[in-house]
Order: sequence, then structure tokens, then C-alpha cells
Amino acid sequence: MPIPPATVPLRAPDLTTYDLLAPQLSGGKDSAVMMAVFMDAARVAGVSERVISYHSSLGVLEWGPVVFEGVRYPGVSELASLQSAAFGVPPERHTEVTRTVPGPCGTRMPRSLLTEIAAYGRFPRLGSPFCRTYAKEGVVSMAWTPIVRRLRDELSRPVRILKVMGLRSDESRGRRERPVLQRVLANSARIVDEWLPVKDWPTDAVKEWHADAPVPYSWTYDSRPGAGDWAGTSRCSCSLCMFAAKGDVLLALGRRPRLAALYAEVEQVRGDSFCAGWRITDLLRHAELCGAPDPGVVCQDDGPEFTALEAQVRAALRQEPRRDPLLARSGGRAICDGCA
Ligand code: SF4
Repeated sequence: MPIPPATVPLRAPDLTTYDLLAPQLSGGKDSAVMMAVFMDAARVAGVSERVISYHSSLGVLEWGPVVFEGVRYPGVSELASLQSAAFGVPPERHTEVTRTVPGPCGTRMPRSLLTEIAAYGRFPRLGSPFCRTYAKEGVVSMAWTPIVRRLRDELSRPVRILKVMGLRSDESRGRRERPVLQRVLANSARIVDEWLPVKDWPTDAVKEWHADAPVPYSWTYDSRPGAGDWAGTSRCSCSLCMFAAKGDVLLALGRRPRLAALYAEVEQVRGDSFCAGWRITDLLRHAELCGAPDPGVVCQDDGPEFTALEAQVRAALRQEPRRDPLLARSGGRAICDGCA
């Protein structure tokens, strides 16, 4: 896959100095490009055998697989594993992780981000984006622990880890200001650096790259699965993301009505709003009164995983929240009175 010269990373770390090279694949369009660029660099440096790729699964909250007009389109967890394999990482070195809590008889069971929000009593905000740590970065970091223990005993020094991510400047101001390469953790057990090899790729270059890519991109980017028009959601991770554009959320409400209703239930019980400026509840009303974009496809969300999610979230809502909900109740406002 040719890489446009303007988008070859300028500031690259010396990959040979790391014990573990850990690309984090969201399964979205950017993580595929990141994996292509990063694996090229790893091969040139002769260290591709040090790569273990990770996908932190958001379970039912992420875009799952759909069957549309008789064709099956993969969900993001499956896409992450396809992206890893397409650029040369063998399946045993691709790891899918998820947040778990103790279950019955010494087992562990998945605990979703929405359950954590319901238990905490507030939605994440720009100043406190706890969802990323809770559902993604913290989970991957925990997955490194057995490797760190083993290697630290062998090496008698902190284990050097390079976390590689597909974040790009075009996505937000916060991401534009994030360094291409930075140290994010250093202690006696591990030293973790973060590298964003495709930070400067423009969105159009990413889409152009996908026209000829060896892996498909998520169906949610299109107006309907298989359309190939990039007229769906602009991002792809949690179907309903507190930091997404309102247009993306409106489309997601139409595509996942049962999930949207569950988020609205959390809003109503806790009194906090999905975003600082508006509530899912208001957006649902707006869609009902004034119309919403054609979702192209509607996910049924009627499987056992969704039922388990509902039960888990409602159980959390029956408990007292960990944070004072009164403070949160000042957030959010109605966005629609019928568009009068
Ligand atoms: S997709 Fe949005 S809501 Fe989900 S973890 Fe990422 S930032 Fe948080």
C-alpha cells in the first residue's frame, strides 16, 4: 500500500530500543492506516516480532456486525483483528481485552462503560474524560502487566513499551496539540512512550488510502452498509460518544434506538446530561418532532449481550451514585421545542 510522501512520519522513535511494540487498534479507519505505516517502520527496523496488537473492546456499546441486503459487514472488534492480520501480525499476537469485574464462583464478567457511568452518576466531560481510561487505555495497560513481570525479571531493568495509536490532528484541537512522540509513564517496572505515526494525515488522505486498502472500513462510515460514500458517522468507536458531533449522535440514535433509550434512561435517573450542552432525551424528542437523518440500517440490539447490558445498567441505577448528582443536574438544556 503506497504511503503519500507528505504523510510519512517525521518524528519517529528508534523502534529497536523497545521491548514491546504495542499498536492499539480501535478498528476504525485511522487505526488501519496507523497499522500500515507502523508495521512498515517495524519491518525496516527488523523488530516486527516484538509487536503485539491490542483492541480494547467496548462490547455492546461499539458498532457491531450487521447483515444488510444479505451481506454481512464486520463490527469494529472483528475489523481490529483483520487490520492486525492484514499488516503481518499473527493471530496469537493480537489481543482483545475488555474491562471485567469479579463474577460468580471466581469467574470474571465484562462490565460496560455505560454501567460505570450509571454507577458513577455522571457522564464524561472534556475536563474529565474518564471513559478513555476506564474502557480503553487502563484496560490495555493492565493487559501488559504479565509481560512486564516476565520481562523485568529477565532484563533486570524497567520494560520499555511503545504504545502506538492512530490519533490525528484533524479530529480535534486536543489531538492537534498532542505531541507525536511523548513519554507517558516511567516507573521502576515500565517505561511507556506514545507514538502517533499518522498524526499529520489529513482525513481526505485516510479516505483515499482506504480506496485501495487490504481491509474493509467500518460500515458505519457510510450512509448505509456498502454504499462507499463516507456519508455515515465520522467516527467509529462507542456508537454513542459523548465527544462526537451532534450529527453523528443523531445518526446513531436512528441506527441504535434501543441503546439510545438506555442512555436516556441513565440521563433521566441520574439527572446528568450526555453532553455539557444537550441531552440524549432532547435529541430523541427533536428526532421525533422534526425528523432525523435516514439511518440507512437499524441494529436490532435484541441479543443476550444487550439484555445483560440493560440488567447491569439498571442494577447500577438502583444504587446511590458515587458522585453527587445535584452538581451534575445543572448541565444540559433542551435543544428542541419542535423547532418552533
Ligand atoms: S468513543 Fe467516546 S465515549 Fe467511547 S471511550 Fe472513546 S471518547 Fe469515551
